[in-house]
Amino acid sequence: MQPLCSTNAPVSANDERLDGLVRLLGRHFAVAAAVLVVGAGGARRILSSAVLGELQRAQIIEAEDAGATRHAAVDPGQQASPRGVGSPLHLIARYPLLASQGRRLGALYLLDERPHELDAGQRQALQDFATLALELLAREADEARQRHEIAALRDSERRMALAIAGSGTGIWDRNVATGEIHYSSGWKALLGYAEHEVGNRIEESYTRVHPADLEYVKATIQAHLDQRTAAYEVEHRLRCRDGQYKWVCSRGKVVERDSQGRPLRMIGTTTDITAMRMLAERVRQTADLMTDLTNEVPGMVFQYRRAASGESCFTYVSAGAQAICGLSAAQLMEDAQALTAIVHPEDRRAFIESFEHCAERLSPWHLEFRVQAPGRDIAWCQGEARPRRQDDGSVLWHGFMTDITARKQIEGELQALATTDFLTQLANRRHFMAQLEAVLARLQRSPGQSAAILMFDLDHFKAINDRWGHDVGDQALRHFAAILRGQLRKTDTAGRLGGEEFAVVLSEADLPKAMQFATRVQGELARTPILHDGEQIFLAVSVGISSLSSCDASVEAALSRSDMALYCAKRGGRNRIEHH
Ligand code: GH3
Ligand code: MG
Ligand code: MG
Repeated sequence: MQPLCSTNAPVSANDERLDGLVRLLGRHFAVAAAVLVVGAGGARRILSSAVLGELQRAQIIEAEDAGATRHAAVDPGQQASPRGVGSPLHLIARYPLLASQGRRLGALYLLDERPHELDAGQRQALQDFATLALELLAREADEARQRHEIAALRDSERRMALAIAGSGTGIWDRNVATGEIHYSSGWKALLGYAEHEVGNRIEESYTRVHPADLEYVKATIQAHLDQRTAAYEVEHRLRCRDGQYKWVCSRGKVVERDSQGRPLRMIGTTTDITAMRMLAERVRQTADLMTDLTNEVPGMVFQYRRAASGESCFTYVSAGAQAICGLSAAQLMEDAQALTAIVHPEDRRAFIESFEHCAERLSPWHLEFRVQAPGRDIAWCQGEARPRRQDDGSVLWHGFMTDITARKQIEGELQALATTDFLTQLANRRHFMAQLEAVLARLQRSPGQSAAILMFDLDHFKAINDRWGHDVGDQALRHFAAILRGQLRKTDTAGRLGGEEFAVVLSEADLPKAMQFATRVQGELARTPILHDGEQIFLAVSVGISSLSSCDASVEAALSRSDMALYCAKRGGRNRIEHH
């Protein structure tokens, strides 16, 4: 059985009125008990004109449960089975109390020792009682709703106060006309002041504002007072009780103006933002540090982003950009293509493709390329970056570019040193052989063509050394090298194989052409003696020629054929040209 409120134990002021109504009902109908059941289930209350025994209460609940679904106006004649304390009563009438939307609010019961029926007048009276009961119940519901709303309001007020206190916010209320200002306890606590330590004059409040911020704060407030802003918000420092300054955010709004629009009352909050400012300061310092570091690094540090759609941009570029490519960091961040545009035309394709390749495989970017900024020499750059795929499908690179022009120069010089004969500046033996290999490879790619290998050996060179000294010998070697060089086409190569032995490879040349070349060299040598102490020293050279074709298995074999021809020229009396 559901627990019930005890009969005649009012729970509200309205219950007393309902109680009175029930008593009146009992007296009017002169029955053993008039009963008003309010509500349903666990919240059900039973108000009765007479004290009910356990049995009679059970009887009513049973009738309620049975009739809860029926809405008959009067339902007489039932008698409950006798149970519990008290004698069973007869149900004379039951009148359900229905709200306007049909919701059941309760019911009126008339119970008596003997069964009898109500006449028409009594039924009308019962209906009138029911109307009265409904009105009282409606009022009760109204009161309950109001009580609930007030409780909810108090709750939200309490929560708001807690939230304000917890957020380090204080409230103030200023009378603009009189210059009075009142602060909440929370406001005073925010700055460490006790309740009585803060005055209520606006002039005093300005003395707590940091002198450096005062003018700005006043101007911001004035702008709002003059209706130039909808509300005002200003960050500034306020002096605490201990003399330290706290950063606060002050927000306020005029809530009352007179008929001419002059401000009367203003309300606002003050929030402690010291921690936030400190955090912001730390973030700024970290960002500054990063910028300083990247700007100090020689070269250009960058972050480059390529969207899934293919669009790309530099999201960060350090100041080194200017030195590297003659473009400012801002220019590059504005337009990434500005860099592509100054990449040397011969390297541009590789430059573009390297990023595409790298984005596809997410492999590190490494590239050496030349840039030519307007009005500048060509510079060599080396780029290194690591790509990372982002959640949105874009690729983000972090990397740097450095100027490697000096390194490239040294590399070039080292390359020249490694491949050039120091005395004559012709290719050294190793480099000449490599060039010869390249010619053979070309011939093998396009058979049918031929090249010629010519070997030169100065005649009686030892005698020059012996007679005029080693330096004159060197001079003779340089002189001969210059003559060779003078006869070469772009596609030919000459080298010093060692001592006073030289070789030339003529590409796309047959034997007659090689003979002509050798003849020209001999003629030039004969015409141009070297001079030493006013004395002319005439030189002569022997030449051995062989041709190189795609059939040759190795360059050494071809070279030894020329060597054999050279040997013939020597044996034949020198200053001669022989071919294999
Ligand atoms: P042939 O007509 O048979 O070629 O006689 P040759 O004297 O030219 O040939 P030989 O091989 O007998 O002598 C070559 C000389 O070249 C010997 C060597 O001292 C000299 N020689 C080799 N390298 C250099 C060099 O770098 N400078 C100078 N001045 N002499 C060199
Ligand atoms: Mg020799
Ligand atoms: Mg010789």
